[in-house]
Amino acid sequence: MLLLLCFSVAAQARSQEKLVVRKMANFTLLLPDNQDPTQLTEWLESARKRVQEYGLALPRTVVVRGYSTSAQFAQATGLTTSHLAGTQNGRLHLQPLPLLLRRPGALRTIGHELVHIALGRAAGNGLPQWFNEGMAMVVAGEQQPESVRFVTLQALRDTLLRSRNYSVVRSAYGTCQRLVEKFVEQRGKSAVLAMLRAVGNGGKFPDRFRRLAGRSAEEWARQELPKR
Ligand SMILES: [Zn+2]
Repeated sequence: MLLLLCFSVAAQARSQEKLVVRKMANFTLLLPDNQDPTQLTEWLESARKRVQEYGLALPRTVVVRGYSTSAQFAQATGLTTSHLAGTQNGRLHLQPLPLLLRRPGALRTIGHELVHIALGRAAGNGLPQWFNEGMAMVVAGEQQPESVRFVTLQALRDTLLRSRNYSVVRSAYGTCQRLVEKFVEQRGKSAVLAMLRAVGNGGKFPDRFRRLAGRSAEEWARQELPKR
């Protein structure tokens, strides 16, 4: 997930919501009955195409759940009302569409979350969060300013896990993006995709990374982290 500030959150909780289920070729939408799916459908297809053209495999059908209010979104996902979208158990969860669709970068956010779904098995088998977030940003075409410097992967990990400071978290995401972009540039996209598939199939990330980079992820990152 990528933290994006959202200042205009309408948080009135409605206790009841009627959901409409729409089954399409690649997505099943579960949306409140008063939300028009037209634009979302276009963006989902566009984001899916981008993820697949990069070389990542998505499930045949992705379930997409939209909410009536930001409060319901936050309650159901455990995310904050500042997040635009998130994934949970292979499902894509979205803020209310009227709010989501007018946010700059929402299309990229959807692409970002689809990458997390594509990497779900790898993540479950130990793909580190820094690599997962970095890959999501690279594929989605996102960037964040690196105003804070991280000197070790551990520091980056700790920030991703625990920090509540927006500019520090943004820097961490920006750093993940830069590291993964550099790794892909150095080792080649097909080798990196093969590594991700291997991890998804039970390979150990530290071993696979070392095989590709010739050293551990920690050693590699220690050299790359200062080069911003
Ligand atoms: Zn993410």
